Amino acid sequence: MKIELVTIGDELLLGFTIDTNAAFAARHLAELGVEIVRRTTVGDAAEPIAAAVREALDRTGAVITTGGLGPTSDDLTKPSIAAIFGRGMRFDEEHWAWMAERWRARFQREIPEANRRQAMIPEGARKLRNNHGSAPGIWLEDAQGRWVAMLPGVPREMRGMLADTILPLLRQRAAGNRVVRSRTLRTTGLPESLIAERVEAIPGGVPDVSLAYLPNVDGVDLRLTVRGTSADEADRRLALGADRLRAAFGGDVYGEGEADLAAIVLDVCRARGLSLAVAESCTGGLIGERITRIPGSSDVFLGGVISYANEVKTSLLGVPAAVLREHGAVSEEVARAMATGARERTGAAIGLSATGIAGPDGGTPEKPVGTVWIAADVAGEVRATLLHSWGDRQEVRQRAAQAALNLARKMLAG
Ligand code: AMP
Ligand code: MG
Repeated sequence: MKIELVTIGDELLLGFTIDTNAAFAARHLAELGVEIVRRTTVGDAAEPIAAAVREALDRTGAVITTGGLGPTSDDLTKPSIAAIFGRGMRFDEEHWAWMAERWRARFQREIPEANRRQAMIPEGARKLRNNHGSAPGIWLEDAQGRWVAMLPGVPREMRGMLADTILPLLRQRAAGNRVVRSRTLRTTGLPESLIAERVEAIPGGVPDVSLAYLPNVDGVDLRLTVRGTSADEADRRLALGADRLRAAFGGDVYGEGEADLAAIVLDVCRARGLSLAVAESCTGGLIGERITRIPGSSDVFLGGVISYANEVKTSLLGVPAAVLREHGAVSEEVARAMATGARERTGAAIGLSATGIAGPDGGTPEKPVGTVWIAADVAGEVRATLLHSWGDRQEVRQRAAQAALNLARKMLAG
């Protein structure tokens, strides 16, 4: 099934909002074998909306729109598209009553009259339930089976409606279709070239899938994709490919899909009853942020020290002043002493540390910007690694946090 997507909003054209809705919809529709063959973005004006949707309907007969369902005067999607189908608008008492009730329950006050717009729906349209907001989605279809699905612009509402109603609906219509499916294996700390070498050395290669190397600040993801087969065949090829890659990479693949290293480290610690603390210099709290972002991290994470100044490395972590003087703050010795200090001072089982030069200033020929020492102390066994990072200040810091979590993961794996 081929469909077109029309995303609506002045903010998209002006570049203030990135069109994440289009990317999200494309990914999830492809899994059903529904292909987005063209994307159009238009502003909040009736004529461009109508023109874009009319042309898209002429090509595919199947269109999804996002945006312009709100209560304000720039929200013109419904009447513009109703006009293409020769339909008028009607006030939906049932939806108005639902919205009024929702307002009373949520905000303890009466719903503003301005919201009446959201209860206006095209004649003959089907309402699509919105579990995350007040504007219903709209499904409009004509006698020839040409259809437009109008979804909200707010990404959370749009994603919810896609998952709750559009995907199940299209899954029925697209049953038996050829699909596009992917699986993603995540690595960190390995350069892309080395990864490619290892892939090329796999006996028999990784057949019948396309393989993409996706470098990002947290590492390199390997995405396997199969197109144009049945769902079962795609899953079979992906499983074979993923097994071969996992065999070649072993513990260097830390997870799949959206897997997060902090969550993985927390799970291992929780399973083994180990607690965790951090000592952060150049990362300035990023490691703690990565960990505390995960719900339930308090089971494992005790806390830490942002020891930016040398005096704080000494006073709060017990890093000897002589070690700082002799080796400098960015050194293996200091990273090790910070990790041990974090563990001992908090009573945790594991101490994790990072100290480095995030830039743009502060580099020297011996220790250029991007030099970061990472250490982990797991119950008294200390290991340190040197990271030669690159990119801007924020990227250096993010890579350092990821490397610290990865060191902990590897030590815990034995
Ligand atoms: P609307 O439903 O048009 O009132 O949009 C509400 C909000 O959703 C806008 O202020 C944008 O921040 C956001 N939004 C709209 N369209 C998109 C899109 N295609 N991708 C990401 N965000 C969007
Ligand atoms: Mg809008």
